[in-house]
Amino acid sequence: MKKAFKYRIYPNKAQQALLQVTFGCCRFVYNKTLDIRKKAYETDKTKLSKFDLIKKITPLKEEFPWLRDVPHVCLPQAVYNMDAAYQNFFKSGKGYPKFKSKHRSRKSCKFPSSHCAVLQDTSHLKLSKLGLVKYKKDREFAGVLRHIVVTQESDGRYYASCLVETGADAPEPQPVEASTTVGIDLGLKDFIVTSDGRKISNPRFYATIDRRLACLQKHEAKKTKGSKRRARIRLKINKLYVKKRNLIKNYIYYVAKTLLRESQTLVMEDLNIVGMVKNHSLAKSIQNICWGELRRVLEYKSQWSGHNLIFIDRWAPSTKTCSHCGFHNSTLTLSDRSWVCPGCGTHHDRDINAALNIKRMGLASLLPAVSGFDGRGEVGYGLDEASICTV
Ligand SMILES: [Zn+2]
Repeated sequence: MKKAFKYRIYPNKAQQALLQVTFGCCRFVYNKTLDIRKKAYETDKTKLSKFDLIKKITPLKEEFPWLRDVPHVCLPQAVYNMDAAYQNFFKSGKGYPKFKSKHRSRKSCKFPSSHCAVLQDTSHLKLSKLGLVKYKKDREFAGVLRHIVVTQESDGRYYASCLVETGADAPEPQPVEASTTVGIDLGLKDFIVTSDGRKISNPRFYATIDRRLACLQKHEAKKTKGSKRRARIRLKINKLYVKKRNLIKNYIYYVAKTLLRESQTLVMEDLNIVGMVKNHSLAKSIQNICWGELRRVLEYKSQWSGHNLIFIDRWAPSTKTCSHCGFHNSTLTLSDRSWVCPGCGTHHDRDINAALNIKRMGLASLLPAVSGFDGRGEVGYGLDEASICTV
């Protein structure tokens, strides 16, 4: 099983200068090889492999001698990254790789395991050409180091992400039981609502940060472009952005941890990533980002701990169906927060009812391998074909 451990690092002045040059050279090689590959295909449909492109680094060093100043192992890694983005474009239909920008793109460089080491006894990283770099050892790891990616955040801090092969296999998922399963509805008003009636509200603590950001951005706009004052304000803004991101991240991890601690199996809707991007409301877009991140965290954490994570079709009729008798209430509108089922008279909270349906549909998709569940609702509500979803 592979795990990544991220540490804050404290490079000295000389190391910082070298890292900045390395980030620049990696970006340069990334852009240059992407350009070569693009042009080769456009001119005579030649498809260059990543190995062909790595061979281009040597002539590039002749042409641009400053490429020799940086750790040489980082440059082929930039080509690998470019190739991964390129392959991703064909496999997952994600956008064509873009050229990296000096100001907007993330600053990073990668050291393969042959040219880096983690000295856990002295809290130092050993990186090719950079030497020993101190890091903040907030936790230890055991396993074989695969690579280290050094990055600089927009607030100026440096981090090292160490990918480690732990040697342990991922635990076998536990059998699904109805009693330890929870359905999760991505709520309209709340962040998520669970089938056991819990509502977790949207993260709101960053409202003060947003106000401060708006104020600073106004100040920034009044300063001359390229001036030191403008750069100083920019740094303050970036620090706030990083703080906001970390607060949200912290919240997501807290929610994920709580959900996994209390249930063995989680059922949630499949998210619509494309539709999310199109949503322009700020509060909604933040909620969407949080859902996407929560899903990502739940996916890998459930793998590590042997939990089951089931996704149901996002078009499944979870909201308008009565979780008690199966009545389909087609008159329900977006503004109805609660409703009484005309079929059986049960009073429903809109989101909790949806979460209960999601739980039932998730369990139904796994039949007959579920104990304590026969495909029926609370009062013998039979399972119709429409509510059986494939995962
Ligand atoms: Zn009903």
